[in-house]
Amino acid sequence: MTEPTPLPDLVIRHGTVVTATAVFPADVAITGRQIAAIGRDLRGQREIDASGQYVIPGAIDGHVHLGMPIGRFTSTDDFCHGTRAAAFGGTTAIVDFVETRPEETMLAALAARQAVAAEAVIDYGLHMTIGPTDVAKLDQLPAARAAGCGSVKLYMAYGLRLNDGELLRALAAAAEVGALPVVHAENWDVITTLIAANLAAGRTAPHWHPRSRPAELEGEAAGRVIDIAAYVGTPVHIFHVSCAATVARIAAAKARGLPVTGETCPQYLTLTDELYDRPGVAGALPVCSPPLRPAADRDALWRALSSGALDLVTTDHCPFTADEKATGLDDFSRIPGGVPSIESRLALVYAGLAGDRATPDPAALSRWVDVCCTTPARIFGFARKGQLLPGYDADVVLFDPTREFTISPESLHETAGWTPYDGLTVRGWPTTTISRGEVIVADGRWLGTVGRGRFVAR
Ligand code: MN
Ligand code: MN
Repeated sequence: MTEPTPLPDLVIRHGTVVTATAVFPADVAITGRQIAAIGRDLRGQREIDASGQYVIPGAIDGHVHLGMPIGRFTSTDDFCHGTRAAAFGGTTAIVDFVETRPEETMLAALAARQAVAAEAVIDYGLHMTIGPTDVAKLDQLPAARAAGCGSVKLYMAYGLRLNDGELLRALAAAAEVGALPVVHAENWDVITTLIAANLAAGRTAPHWHPRSRPAELEGEAAGRVIDIAAYVGTPVHIFHVSCAATVARIAAAKARGLPVTGETCPQYLTLTDELYDRPGVAGALPVCSPPLRPAADRDALWRALSSGALDLVTTDHCPFTADEKATGLDDFSRIPGGVPSIESRLALVYAGLAGDRATPDPAALSRWVDVCCTTPARIFGFARKGQLLPGYDADVVLFDPTREFTISPESLHETAGWTPYDGLTVRGWPTTTISRGEVIVADGRWLGTVGRGRFVAR
């Protein structure tokens, strides 16, 4: 007598599996926290009927700022609410940031940020920020790398910006330990000069925000850090690409064979700079940096995402309330920067890449999964996420391509009280989110628990 093989804990039946390379009907079996099998006619102790739905790897958002203190304000979604909203949107892992105070070690700052993140409901990683006062601490980077910070954040703007020599040193230190540099690329000297000139001339409205941060100089900064990274011999990832000028620099680097990757965000794919001309606080709400650009840039970003010139989509989720945004109405440079997108990303990218076709295009569906799930896992170093393969974490999302969803502050679970996509109706929305084998969202109901998310060493 042999014991009968126990059935998997959970089987997702009758769905259409979409991977970064293929689209096919299959069942997905989960045992414990892992995917056990992909196949036909699988049975489980518990079963979910996914008829008519796409079954995809949980999406990964490699660029979010939860509960981030910036100046006088702190971004509105903390780790509990931000990761919960992410889960409702089909995201099962995020990467946030560690910033080290001058007197603090990188490991102490990492531990402090992990304590803040303890309420996360999905898994998370942390980028280690290297600001100017951290350049003297680069000897601590091997320890931070060993503790699971597989990437380092470098700024070319704001108070945390590094000059080119500091960038060289930080990039070399990252290369030494095999951490991926991720970069906010803008030309800060040009920006601060233009802001001062505009304010001095009485040009204080949000209209002047994009006009103080030229697209060409975003491209210039990206090209500069790409060239320094190439000299050092390290890969580099360009954050939040907003314009064709930066796409061109990344595409040129790829054509040279350099290990350069780039991301864009839903706000740059969906919105344009005309929003800054709205009266009152409405014009201030979409202030983010880099800024929204004209429609021609938006269209170039979609083409770059389809062609591979851009590799993935994150959100740079960093919302502030309308009252906080309004504090900068008489000086656009004081508007706290950032918009919420953490819950809408998967559906917005679906709508743009694959959702507008009468019959589903398998290549477009695979590209959607690639840029939201699989490539983010690979680039940001989630070794057991981003694919539906036996032994991988059972992070799985069911996405209903026929579900119509009107985005609004009430329909989302974000806490900013506004959304830049307010009133937009998309066709296609996630219905069920599974994180390490646990169903945490089912048909719009929250089933997860606070603090169930785990830090993932990358
Ligand atoms: Mn940034
Ligand atoms: Mn950011």
